[in-house]
Amino acid sequence: MSYSGLATYCNRTSQHYDGRFGYKVCKITPHYMAAAWSGKQCADYFARNTRQASSNYCIGINGDIACSVDEENAAWTSSNWLNDSQSITIECGNINNVTGEMTQATWDSLVNLCVDICKRYGFRLNYTGNSSGSLTMHKMFAATSCPGAWLEARMPQLAQEVNARLDGQTVAPSAPSTPNTPSGEKYSVGTPICTNTLSVNCYGTSKILKGDWSGTIGRVIKGAKYPYRVDRNGVAIGWTNDAGIDTDPHTPVGTTQSSSEAIDQILHEGSYVTSVHMKIGNQGLKKIGDDLCCYLSQLGGWFPIRMVDKVPNSDGYNDNVLHTTNAVVYVTRIRVDAVNVQKNIVKIGGIWVDPTPLTEIA
Ligand SMILES: [Zn+2]
Repeated sequence: MSYSGLATYCNRTSQHYDGRFGYKVCKITPHYMAAAWSGKQCADYFARNTRQASSNYCIGINGDIACSVDEENAAWTSSNWLNDSQSITIECGNINNVTGEMTQATWDSLVNLCVDICKRYGFRLNYTGNSSGSLTMHKMFAATSCPGAWLEARMPQLAQEVNARLDGQTVAPSAPSTPNTPSGEKYSVGTPICTNTLSVNCYGTSKILKGDWSGTIGRVIKGAKYPYRVDRNGVAIGWTNDAGIDTDPHTPVGTTQSSSEAIDQILHEGSYVTSVHMKIGNQGLKKIGDDLCCYLSQLGGWFPIRMVDKVPNSDGYNDNVLHTTNAVVYVTRIRVDAVNVQKNIVKIGGIWVDPTPLTEIA
């Protein structure tokens, strides 16, 4: 069992972890607690809670670091087994549950812990804005706003401060800077907006939808044709630009776009996806055609078990009986064969499903 010497408290009785499936630690994923807790409170919560969640470390609002899951194990934190297998995950306390704002003490401990982890495993923090980097975010894998707009805006700064420390440079006092709009772009991450234009990608090379959407800017790509990613309830619904935006959020009128706006426009034909963890339903298993299927309500119905994998240690896993229910599964890496924007469904493995639990992977 190993954990950082920076931790001042350990409660490693959470049941919710796996081994690392042979993966080496090469990433760090900071999360937000959306609570003004101490690290100890959070680790104790993971130890007793029945929610299937955990984290390697928890940093409190006073900067205390608690260990919850040993570094040899993947905690269940990021809704993505590959990321959790490769990452040390760190829950951070917040003084604003909406923006995810942290105290200076939490920020300093996060920087210190990241430096310690990077030194011990021999990697640097590389923030690419997607899951290919060594500094990743929960929202890259699931429909969540975690780690919150405050930390998301500071991910490049976190990488820069940690790498400067690894290089032995002195960094100016690490006061987190005020979130800023990338130069040239009018709106910044976290701004609520309303728009009449959505593109399925930031380059605007595919279909441009016209309608009426409200949401929050989730990401800004400087210089892109459609630089603003529009998120609703933590899910990206498309990209827009200055011409499409007015800043008066309202409930869209009319229903003509209601089905197409719900689809995660980031998913498109040819992309590869996996899914968040899903509990199978109570209906047992059913043979449909040649396939033995389980009921996955989040995907919209019966789905072949040959295309899912079980999450180790979930109920029903050890006795290998999927139809005992409560087994937790996820869709393994699969190609999106087709997208039907009008019906808000995508085709994977020859079957049309609800795209909500799907998340694009490299
Ligand atoms: Zn998270």
